Amino acid sequence: MTDALPAATPLPAEVDVVVVGAGAAGIGAARKLMGRPGLSVLLLEARDRIGGRALTLPFRGEGLDLGCGWLHSADDNVLAGLVEPEGLTIDRTEPPWRSQAFNHETTPEELAAFGAAFAAFETRVAEAAQRGEDRPAAELFDPDSPWNPRMDAISGALNGARFAEVSTLDYDAYGDTGVNWRVREGYGRLVAALGRPLESITATGCAVYRIDRSGPTLRLETRRGGLQARAVILTAPNSLIASEAVRIDPPVPAWLEAASGVPLGLASKVHMTVNGAEDFPPDSQLWTRRDTAQTGGYHLRPFGRPMIEAYFGADLAWGLEAEGPAAMFDFAVSELAAALGSGMRRRLSLVAATEWGVDPFSRGAYSHALPGHAGDRARLRQSVEDRLFLAGEGTAPTYYGTAHGAWMEGERAAEAALAALKGSVR
Ligand SMILES: Cc1cc2nc3c(=O)[nH]c(=O)nc-3n(C[C@H](O)[C@H](O)[C@H](O)COP(=O)(O)OP(=O)(O)OC[C@H]3O[C@@H](n4cnc5c(N)ncnc54)[C@H](O)[C@@H]3O)c2cc1C
Repeated sequence: MTDALPAATPLPAEVDVVVVGAGAAGIGAARKLMGRPGLSVLLLEARDRIGGRALTLPFRGEGLDLGCGWLHSADDNVLAGLVEPEGLTIDRTEPPWRSQAFNHETTPEELAAFGAAFAAFETRVAEAAQRGEDRPAAELFDPDSPWNPRMDAISGALNGARFAEVSTLDYDAYGDTGVNWRVREGYGRLVAALGRPLESITATGCAVYRIDRSGPTLRLETRRGGLQARAVILTAPNSLIASEAVRIDPPVPAWLEAASGVPLGLASKVHMTVNGAEDFPPDSQLWTRRDTAQTGGYHLRPFGRPMIEAYFGADLAWGLEAEGPAAMFDFAVSELAAALGSGMRRRLSLVAATEWGVDPFSRGAYSHALPGHAGDRARLRQSVEDRLFLAGEGTAPTYYGTAHGAWMEGERAAEAALAALKGSVR
Protein backbone atom coordinates (compact mmCIF):
# COMPACT_ATOMS: atom_id res chain seq x y z
CA MET A 1 0.00 0.00 0.00
CA THR A 2 1.30 3.44 -0.81
CA ASP A 3 1.11 5.92 2.01
CA ALA A 4 -1.26 8.71 1.08
CA LEU A 5 0.46 10.87 3.63
CA PRO A 6 4.16 10.28 2.84
CA ALA A 7 6.69 11.07 5.53
CA ALA A 8 7.41 14.50 4.07
CA THR A 9 3.75 15.52 4.30
CA PRO A 10 2.79 16.97 7.67
CA LEU A 11 -0.18 15.42 9.44
CA PRO A 12 -3.28 17.62 9.63
CA ALA A 13 -3.31 19.71 12.81
CA GLU A 14 -6.79 18.59 13.83
CA VAL A 15 -9.21 15.78 12.97
CA ASP A 16 -12.45 14.47 14.45
CA VAL A 17 -11.39 10.85 14.95
CA VAL A 18 -7.93 9.31 14.98
CA VAL A 19 -7.75 5.53 14.74
CA VAL A 20 -4.43 4.30 16.14
CA GLY A 21 -3.23 1.06 14.53
CA ALA A 22 -4.10 -0.37 11.13
CA GLY A 23 -4.64 -4.03 11.99
CA ALA A 24 -8.00 -5.76 11.59
CA ALA A 25 -9.60 -3.68 14.37
CA GLY A 26 -8.27 -0.35 13.09
CA ILE A 27 -9.21 -1.10 9.49
CA GLY A 28 -12.68 -2.25 10.57
CA ALA A 29 -13.12 0.95 12.58
CA ALA A 30 -11.81 3.30 9.88
CA ARG A 31 -13.98 1.71 7.19
CA LYS A 32 -17.04 2.39 9.35
CA LEU A 33 -16.02 6.01 9.85
CA MET A 34 -14.65 6.98 6.44
CA GLY A 35 -16.87 8.89 4.06
CA ARG A 36 -19.31 10.20 6.67
CA PRO A 37 -20.26 13.75 5.70
CA GLY A 38 -18.57 16.30 7.93
CA LEU A 39 -16.40 13.75 9.74
CA SER A 40 -12.62 13.86 9.35
CA VAL A 41 -10.78 10.61 10.10
CA LEU A 42 -7.11 9.62 10.17
CA LEU A 43 -5.62 6.12 10.53
CA LEU A 44 -2.14 6.16 12.08
CA GLU A 45 0.02 3.05 11.84
CA ALA A 46 3.42 2.57 13.49
CA ARG A 47 4.81 0.04 11.03
CA ASP A 48 5.53 0.80 7.40
CA ARG A 49 2.74 -1.57 6.40
CA ILE A 50 -0.87 -2.11 7.38
CA GLY A 51 -2.43 -5.38 8.59
CA GLY A 52 -0.83 -5.78 12.02
CA ARG A 53 -0.87 -9.43 13.08
CA ALA A 54 -2.46 -10.32 9.73
CA LEU A 55 0.51 -10.66 7.37
CA THR A 56 1.01 -12.79 4.27
CA LEU A 57 4.46 -13.51 2.88
CA PRO A 58 4.48 -14.06 -0.89
CA PHE A 59 6.43 -17.23 -1.71
CA ARG A 60 6.68 -18.98 -5.09
CA GLY A 61 3.38 -17.54 -6.23
CA GLU A 62 1.59 -18.56 -3.02
CA GLY A 63 0.84 -16.71 0.20
CA LEU A 64 2.26 -17.90 3.53
CA ASP A 65 0.48 -16.50 6.55
CA LEU A 66 2.81 -15.40 9.31
CA GLY A 67 -0.06 -14.29 11.57
CA CYS A 68 -3.71 -15.30 11.29
CA GLY A 69 -4.34 -18.14 8.87
CA TRP A 70 -7.76 -19.57 9.71
CA LEU A 71 -11.16 -18.00 9.29
CA HIS A 72 -12.30 -19.39 12.62
CA SER A 73 -16.05 -19.83 13.16
CA ALA A 74 -16.17 -19.28 9.42
CA ASP A 75 -19.96 -19.63 9.23
CA ASP A 76 -20.27 -16.69 11.64
CA ASN A 77 -17.19 -14.72 10.61
CA VAL A 78 -17.72 -11.16 9.34
CA LEU A 79 -14.59 -11.42 7.21
CA ALA A 80 -15.53 -14.66 5.42
CA GLY A 81 -18.11 -12.86 3.30
CA LEU A 82 -15.49 -10.33 2.17
CA VAL A 83 -13.01 -12.87 0.75
CA GLU A 84 -14.56 -13.51 -2.65
CA PRO A 85 -15.59 -9.88 -3.30
CA GLU A 86 -11.86 -9.06 -2.95
CA GLY A 87 -11.10 -11.58 -5.72
CA LEU A 88 -9.60 -14.09 -3.26
CA THR A 89 -10.45 -17.76 -2.71
CA ILE A 90 -11.93 -19.54 0.29
CA ASP A 91 -10.50 -23.00 0.95
CA ARG A 92 -12.90 -25.24 2.88
CA THR A 93 -10.55 -28.20 3.41
CA GLU A 94 -11.16 -29.62 6.90
CA PRO A 95 -8.43 -28.62 9.37
CA PRO A 96 -6.27 -31.61 10.34
CA TRP A 97 -6.30 -30.87 14.06
CA ARG A 98 -8.01 -34.11 15.10
CA SER A 99 -5.70 -36.36 13.12
CA GLN A 100 -2.21 -37.76 13.60
CA ALA A 101 -0.18 -38.46 10.45
CA PHE A 102 1.30 -41.96 10.18
CA ASN A 103 -0.44 -42.80 13.49
CA HIS A 104 2.86 -41.65 14.91
CA GLU A 105 3.17 -42.83 18.54
CA THR A 106 -0.63 -42.82 18.67
CA THR A 107 -3.04 -45.49 17.45
CA PRO A 108 -6.47 -44.38 16.17
CA GLU A 109 -7.95 -45.73 19.44
CA GLU A 110 -5.53 -43.62 21.46
CA LEU A 111 -6.36 -40.60 19.34
CA ALA A 112 -10.04 -41.16 20.12
CA ALA A 113 -9.17 -41.49 23.81
CA PHE A 114 -7.32 -38.20 23.65
CA GLY A 115 -10.35 -36.54 21.99
CA ALA A 116 -12.59 -37.87 24.76
CA ALA A 117 -10.16 -36.68 27.46
CA PHE A 118 -10.03 -33.19 25.96
CA ALA A 119 -13.83 -33.02 25.64
CA ALA A 120 -14.22 -34.14 29.27
CA PHE A 121 -11.73 -31.46 30.36
CA GLU A 122 -13.64 -28.77 28.45
CA THR A 123 -16.90 -29.96 30.04
CA ARG A 124 -15.35 -29.60 33.51
CA VAL A 125 -14.15 -26.10 32.56
CA ALA A 126 -17.65 -25.21 31.35
CA GLU A 127 -19.19 -26.50 34.59
CA ALA A 128 -16.73 -24.47 36.65
CA ALA A 129 -17.58 -21.41 34.53
CA GLN A 130 -21.29 -21.99 35.11
CA ARG A 131 -20.58 -21.93 38.83
CA GLY A 132 -18.87 -18.58 38.22
CA GLU A 133 -15.43 -19.91 39.08
CA ASP A 134 -12.61 -17.89 37.56
CA ARG A 135 -9.65 -20.18 38.26
CA PRO A 136 -6.70 -21.70 36.39
CA ALA A 137 -8.08 -24.04 33.75
CA ALA A 138 -5.26 -26.52 34.54
CA GLU A 139 -6.93 -27.18 37.90
CA LEU A 140 -9.59 -29.03 35.91
CA PHE A 141 -7.10 -31.53 34.48
CA ASP A 142 -7.64 -35.12 35.54
CA PRO A 143 -4.40 -35.65 37.50
CA ASP A 144 -4.29 -39.29 36.40
CA SER A 145 -4.71 -38.60 32.69
CA PRO A 146 -1.69 -39.38 30.52
CA TRP A 147 -2.87 -36.70 28.09
CA ASN A 148 -2.21 -33.58 30.18
CA PRO A 149 1.10 -32.68 28.44
CA ARG A 150 -0.59 -32.93 25.02
CA MET A 151 -3.49 -30.79 26.24
CA ASP A 152 -1.04 -28.18 27.47
CA ALA A 153 0.81 -28.29 24.15
CA ILE A 154 -2.52 -27.56 22.47
CA SER A 155 -3.17 -24.77 24.97
CA GLY A 156 0.08 -23.22 23.78
CA ALA A 157 -1.36 -23.09 20.28
CA LEU A 158 -4.90 -22.07 21.30
CA ASN A 159 -4.06 -19.55 24.02
CA GLY A 160 -0.38 -18.81 23.55
CA ALA A 161 -0.07 -19.90 27.19
CA ARG A 162 -0.38 -23.05 29.30
CA PHE A 163 -3.73 -23.87 30.89
CA ALA A 164 -2.33 -22.90 34.33
CA GLU A 165 -2.31 -19.29 33.10
CA VAL A 166 -5.73 -19.38 31.46
CA SER A 167 -8.95 -18.32 33.17
CA THR A 168 -11.73 -20.93 33.15
CA LEU A 169 -14.37 -18.24 32.60
CA ASP A 170 -12.53 -16.63 29.70
CA TYR A 171 -11.71 -19.96 28.04
CA ASP A 172 -15.32 -21.01 28.31
CA ALA A 173 -16.52 -17.70 26.83
CA TYR A 174 -14.59 -18.25 23.57
CA GLY A 175 -16.93 -18.63 20.62
CA ASP A 176 -16.24 -21.53 18.29
CA THR A 177 -18.77 -22.80 15.77
CA GLY A 178 -16.36 -25.55 14.74
CA VAL A 179 -16.17 -24.38 11.12
CA ASN A 180 -12.69 -23.29 9.98
CA TRP A 181 -11.76 -22.16 6.47
CA ARG A 182 -8.72 -20.50 4.97
CA VAL A 183 -7.98 -17.84 2.40
CA ARG A 184 -5.88 -19.57 -0.24
CA GLU A 185 -3.95 -16.43 -1.17
CA GLY A 186 -3.51 -15.51 2.50
CA TYR A 187 -5.57 -14.07 5.36
CA GLY A 188 -3.06 -11.24 5.65
CA ARG A 189 -3.58 -10.42 2.02
CA LEU A 190 -7.31 -10.16 2.65
CA VAL A 191 -6.88 -7.74 5.56
CA ALA A 192 -4.41 -5.62 3.56
CA ALA A 193 -6.88 -5.52 0.65
CA LEU A 194 -9.62 -4.37 3.00
CA GLY A 195 -7.37 -1.51 4.10
CA ARG A 196 -6.70 -0.32 0.57
CA PRO A 197 -9.79 1.93 0.30
CA LEU A 198 -8.45 3.79 3.34
CA GLU A 199 -5.24 4.85 1.61
CA SER A 200 -6.14 8.53 1.48
CA ILE A 201 -6.57 8.72 5.27
CA THR A 202 -3.69 6.45 6.33
CA ALA A 203 -0.26 7.46 7.57
CA THR A 204 2.25 4.63 8.11
CA GLY A 205 5.57 4.86 9.96
CA CYS A 206 3.63 6.95 12.42
CA ALA A 207 3.86 5.44 15.92
CA VAL A 208 1.73 7.28 18.44
CA TYR A 209 3.59 7.42 21.73
CA ARG A 210 1.50 9.75 23.87
CA ILE A 211 -2.14 10.78 24.11
CA ASP A 212 -2.66 13.83 26.30
CA ARG A 213 -6.23 13.93 27.62
CA SER A 214 -5.79 16.84 30.02
CA GLY A 215 -7.35 19.42 27.68
CA PRO A 216 -10.70 19.87 25.94
CA THR A 217 -9.38 18.07 22.85
CA LEU A 218 -7.11 15.04 22.82
CA ARG A 219 -3.52 15.76 21.78
CA LEU A 220 -1.52 13.00 20.14
CA GLU A 221 2.24 12.93 19.88
CA THR A 222 3.52 10.79 17.05
CA ARG A 223 6.76 10.02 15.25
CA ARG A 224 5.54 12.39 12.58
CA GLY A 225 4.54 15.27 14.81
CA GLY A 226 1.56 16.26 16.92
CA LEU A 227 -2.13 16.63 16.19
CA GLN A 228 -5.44 17.10 17.98
CA ALA A 229 -8.49 14.87 17.88
CA ARG A 230 -11.94 14.92 19.39
CA ALA A 231 -12.02 11.13 19.70
CA VAL A 232 -9.38 8.41 19.52
CA ILE A 233 -9.88 4.71 18.84
CA LEU A 234 -6.83 2.90 20.13
CA THR A 235 -6.22 -0.56 18.67
CA ALA A 236 -2.65 -1.28 19.79
CA PRO A 237 -2.36 -4.74 21.40
CA ASN A 238 -2.96 -5.06 25.16
CA SER A 239 0.75 -5.67 25.69
CA LEU A 240 1.48 -2.12 24.52
CA ILE A 241 -1.34 -0.61 26.58
CA ALA A 242 -0.17 -2.37 29.75
CA SER A 243 3.48 -1.32 29.27
CA GLU A 244 2.44 2.24 28.37
CA ALA A 245 4.26 2.06 25.04
CA VAL A 246 1.34 4.23 24.07
CA ARG A 247 1.17 6.53 27.11
CA ILE A 248 -2.11 8.09 28.08
CA ASP A 249 -1.75 11.23 30.19
CA PRO A 250 -3.12 11.33 32.81
CA PRO A 251 -3.07 7.53 32.87
CA VAL A 252 -6.24 5.44 32.96
CA PRO A 253 -5.64 3.04 35.87
CA ALA A 254 -8.63 0.82 34.97
CA TRP A 255 -7.20 0.21 31.50
CA LEU A 256 -3.66 -0.38 32.76
CA GLU A 257 -4.87 -2.96 35.27
CA ALA A 258 -7.25 -4.66 32.86
CA ALA A 259 -4.69 -4.82 30.03
CA SER A 260 -2.30 -6.58 32.45
CA GLY A 261 -5.04 -9.09 33.27
CA VAL A 262 -5.40 -10.01 29.59
CA PRO A 263 -1.79 -10.33 28.40
CA LEU A 264 -0.64 -11.58 25.01
CA GLY A 265 0.60 -15.14 24.90
CA LEU A 266 2.89 -16.31 22.16
CA ALA A 267 2.49 -18.60 19.19
CA SER A 268 5.21 -18.88 16.57
CA LYS A 269 5.21 -20.33 13.11
CA VAL A 270 8.05 -21.80 11.08
CA HIS A 271 7.38 -22.25 7.36
CA MET A 272 9.65 -24.81 5.72
CA THR A 273 9.89 -26.44 2.31
CA VAL A 274 10.23 -30.22 2.26
CA ASN A 275 11.80 -32.27 -0.51
CA GLY A 276 9.97 -35.44 -1.53
CA ALA A 277 6.70 -33.99 -0.29
CA GLU A 278 4.73 -36.84 -1.84
CA ASP A 279 5.81 -38.98 1.15
CA PHE A 280 3.53 -36.91 3.37
CA PRO A 281 -0.27 -36.84 3.33
CA PRO A 282 -1.56 -33.42 2.24
CA ASP A 283 -3.14 -31.23 4.90
CA SER A 284 -2.34 -33.56 7.76
CA GLN A 285 -1.16 -32.99 11.30
CA LEU A 286 1.71 -34.44 13.28
CA TRP A 287 2.42 -34.11 16.97
CA THR A 288 5.89 -35.54 17.42
CA ARG A 289 5.80 -36.12 21.20
CA ARG A 290 3.12 -36.83 23.77
CA ASP A 291 5.18 -36.87 26.98
CA THR A 292 5.77 -33.12 27.13
CA ALA A 293 4.10 -29.80 26.39
CA GLN A 294 7.46 -28.51 25.11
CA THR A 295 6.77 -29.72 21.61
CA GLY A 296 5.50 -28.31 18.33
CA GLY A 297 2.50 -29.16 16.20
CA TYR A 298 3.33 -29.74 12.53
CA HIS A 299 0.91 -29.07 9.69
CA LEU A 300 2.16 -31.25 6.84
CA ARG A 301 1.66 -29.95 3.32
CA PRO A 302 -0.79 -27.11 3.99
CA PHE A 303 -2.95 -26.58 0.88
CA GLY A 304 -1.12 -29.62 -0.53
CA ARG A 305 2.05 -27.53 -0.91
CA PRO A 306 5.50 -29.11 -0.59
CA MET A 307 5.88 -27.47 2.80
CA ILE A 308 5.56 -28.04 6.54
CA GLU A 309 4.35 -25.40 8.99
CA ALA A 310 5.52 -25.76 12.57
CA TYR A 311 3.53 -24.13 15.36
CA PHE A 312 5.04 -23.49 18.79
CA GLY A 313 3.19 -21.99 21.73
CA ALA A 314 3.66 -20.50 25.18
CA ASP A 315 6.98 -20.77 27.05
CA LEU A 316 8.46 -22.92 24.29
CA ALA A 317 7.73 -20.18 21.75
CA TRP A 318 9.07 -17.39 24.00
CA GLY A 319 12.29 -19.34 24.58
CA LEU A 320 12.85 -20.18 20.92
CA GLU A 321 12.06 -16.64 19.78
CA ALA A 322 14.62 -15.28 22.19
CA GLU A 323 17.21 -17.50 20.50
CA GLY A 324 16.19 -16.41 17.00
CA PRO A 325 14.83 -17.91 13.77
CA ALA A 326 17.76 -20.31 13.24
CA ALA A 327 17.16 -21.89 16.67
CA MET A 328 13.46 -22.15 15.97
CA PHE A 329 14.11 -23.91 12.66
CA ASP A 330 16.67 -26.15 14.32
CA PHE A 331 14.16 -27.22 16.96
CA ALA A 332 11.57 -28.05 14.30
CA VAL A 333 14.09 -30.05 12.26
CA SER A 334 15.26 -31.97 15.33
CA GLU A 335 11.71 -32.89 16.33
CA LEU A 336 10.79 -33.99 12.80
CA ALA A 337 14.03 -35.95 12.44
CA ALA A 338 13.45 -37.70 15.77
CA ALA A 339 9.92 -38.62 14.70
CA LEU A 340 10.37 -39.41 11.01
CA GLY A 341 14.02 -40.31 10.64
CA SER A 342 17.30 -38.44 10.36
CA GLY A 343 16.82 -38.08 6.57
CA MET A 344 14.44 -35.23 7.41
CA ARG A 345 17.45 -33.05 8.20
CA ARG A 346 18.45 -32.89 4.55
CA ARG A 347 14.92 -32.44 3.26
CA LEU A 348 13.85 -29.31 5.13
CA SER A 349 14.73 -25.69 4.33
CA LEU A 350 13.71 -22.63 6.29
CA VAL A 351 11.48 -20.12 4.50
CA ALA A 352 10.31 -17.94 7.39
CA ALA A 353 10.06 -17.98 11.18
CA THR A 354 7.87 -15.47 12.99
CA GLU A 355 8.97 -13.09 15.73
CA TRP A 356 5.74 -11.64 17.11
CA GLY A 357 7.04 -11.73 20.68
CA VAL A 358 10.02 -9.47 20.10
CA ASP A 359 8.22 -7.27 17.59
CA PRO A 360 7.86 -3.87 19.32
CA PHE A 361 4.41 -3.34 17.81
CA SER A 362 2.84 -6.61 18.93
CA ARG A 363 4.87 -8.07 21.85
CA GLY A 364 3.00 -11.34 21.56
CA ALA A 365 0.56 -13.25 19.39
CA TYR A 366 -2.90 -13.13 20.98
CA SER A 367 -4.48 -12.54 24.34
CA HIS A 368 -5.75 -14.79 27.10
CA ALA A 369 -7.26 -13.72 30.41
CA LEU A 370 -5.31 -14.74 33.49
CA PRO A 371 -7.18 -16.66 36.19
CA GLY A 372 -9.30 -14.17 38.14
CA HIS A 373 -9.32 -11.70 35.25
CA ALA A 374 -12.11 -12.84 32.94
CA GLY A 375 -13.89 -9.53 33.53
CA ASP A 376 -11.00 -7.47 32.22
CA ARG A 377 -11.96 -7.60 28.54
CA ALA A 378 -15.24 -5.88 29.45
CA ARG A 379 -13.31 -3.26 31.44
CA LEU A 380 -11.20 -2.53 28.38
CA ARG A 381 -14.37 -1.93 26.39
CA GLN A 382 -15.38 0.90 28.75
CA SER A 383 -14.61 4.19 27.05
CA VAL A 384 -12.87 7.04 28.83
CA GLU A 385 -14.75 10.35 28.91
CA ASP A 386 -16.71 9.15 25.88
CA ARG A 387 -13.76 10.12 23.65
CA LEU A 388 -11.10 7.45 24.13
CA PHE A 389 -12.05 4.00 22.92
CA LEU A 390 -10.11 0.73 22.97
CA ALA A 391 -10.65 -2.05 20.42
CA GLY A 392 -8.84 -5.14 19.22
CA GLU A 393 -8.80 -8.88 19.59
CA GLY A 394 -8.02 -8.34 23.26
CA THR A 395 -11.30 -6.55 23.95
CA ALA A 396 -13.52 -9.05 22.10
CA PRO A 397 -16.01 -10.82 24.36
CA THR A 398 -16.24 -14.16 22.52
CA TYR A 399 -14.13 -14.05 19.37
CA TYR A 400 -11.05 -12.84 21.21
CA GLY A 401 -7.68 -13.82 19.80
CA THR A 402 -8.98 -13.71 16.24
CA ALA A 403 -8.90 -11.35 13.28
CA HIS A 404 -12.66 -11.29 12.85
CA GLY A 405 -13.14 -10.64 16.57
CA ALA A 406 -10.75 -7.69 16.27
CA TRP A 407 -12.63 -6.39 13.23
CA MET A 408 -15.97 -6.55 15.06
CA GLU A 409 -14.46 -4.69 18.00
CA GLY A 410 -13.18 -1.98 15.65
CA GLU A 411 -16.67 -1.59 14.27
CA ARG A 412 -18.13 -1.50 17.77
CA ALA A 413 -15.72 1.25 18.83
CA ALA A 414 -16.43 3.24 15.66
CA GLU A 415 -20.16 3.13 16.39
CA ALA A 416 -19.48 4.28 19.94
CA ALA A 417 -17.30 7.16 18.73
CA LEU A 418 -19.95 8.20 16.23
CA ALA A 419 -22.61 8.17 18.92
CA ALA A 420 -20.38 10.27 21.18
CA LEU A 421 -19.72 12.83 18.46
CA LYS A 422 -23.32 12.89 17.23
CA GLY A 423 -24.67 16.35 16.75
CA SER A 424 -21.28 17.95 17.21
CA VAL A 425 -19.63 16.92 13.94
CA ARG A 426 -18.56 20.04 12.12
C1 LIG B 1 1.06 -16.70 14.81
C2 LIG B 1 -0.36 -16.19 14.85
C3 LIG B 1 -1.39 -17.00 14.38
C4 LIG B 1 -2.70 -16.55 14.41
N1 LIG B 1 -3.69 -17.35 13.88
C5 LIG B 1 -4.94 -16.85 13.77
C6 LIG B 1 -5.93 -17.53 13.02
O1 LIG B 1 -5.66 -18.59 12.46
N2 LIG B 1 -7.16 -16.97 12.92
C7 LIG B 1 -7.46 -15.77 13.49
O2 LIG B 1 -8.60 -15.28 13.33
N3 LIG B 1 -6.54 -15.09 14.20
C8 LIG B 1 -5.30 -15.59 14.34
N4 LIG B 1 -4.32 -14.88 14.98
C9 LIG B 1 -4.72 -13.67 15.70
C10 LIG B 1 -4.99 -12.47 14.79
O3 LIG B 1 -3.92 -12.32 13.89
C11 LIG B 1 -5.14 -11.25 15.67
O4 LIG B 1 -6.10 -11.51 16.68
C12 LIG B 1 -5.60 -10.01 14.91
O5 LIG B 1 -4.92 -9.86 13.69
C13 LIG B 1 -5.41 -8.79 15.82
O6 LIG B 1 -5.90 -7.62 15.20
P1 LIG B 1 -5.86 -6.26 16.01
O7 LIG B 1 -6.31 -5.21 15.10
O8 LIG B 1 -6.54 -6.44 17.32
O9 LIG B 1 -4.32 -6.06 16.40
P2 LIG B 1 -3.06 -5.87 15.44
O10 LIG B 1 -3.21 -6.67 14.21
O11 LIG B 1 -1.87 -6.10 16.28
O12 LIG B 1 -3.16 -4.35 15.02
C14 LIG B 1 -2.71 -3.32 15.84
C15 LIG B 1 -1.95 -2.33 14.98
O13 LIG B 1 -1.51 -1.27 15.80
C16 LIG B 1 -0.21 -0.91 15.38
N5 LIG B 1 0.43 -0.21 16.48
C17 LIG B 1 0.97 -0.71 17.60
N6 LIG B 1 1.45 0.27 18.37
C18 LIG B 1 1.19 1.43 17.74
C19 LIG B 1 1.47 2.79 18.03
N7 LIG B 1 2.10 3.16 19.15
N8 LIG B 1 1.08 3.73 17.15
C20 LIG B 1 0.45 3.39 15.99
N9 LIG B 1 0.19 2.10 15.67
C21 LIG B 1 0.54 1.14 16.53
C22 LIG B 1 0.45 -2.21 15.02
O14 LIG B 1 1.57 -2.03 14.20
C23 LIG B 1 -0.69 -2.94 14.34
O15 LIG B 1 -0.71 -2.70 12.95
C24 LIG B 1 -3.00 -15.29 14.93
C25 LIG B 1 -1.98 -14.46 15.38
C26 LIG B 1 -0.67 -14.91 15.33
C27 LIG B 1 0.42 -13.99 15.80
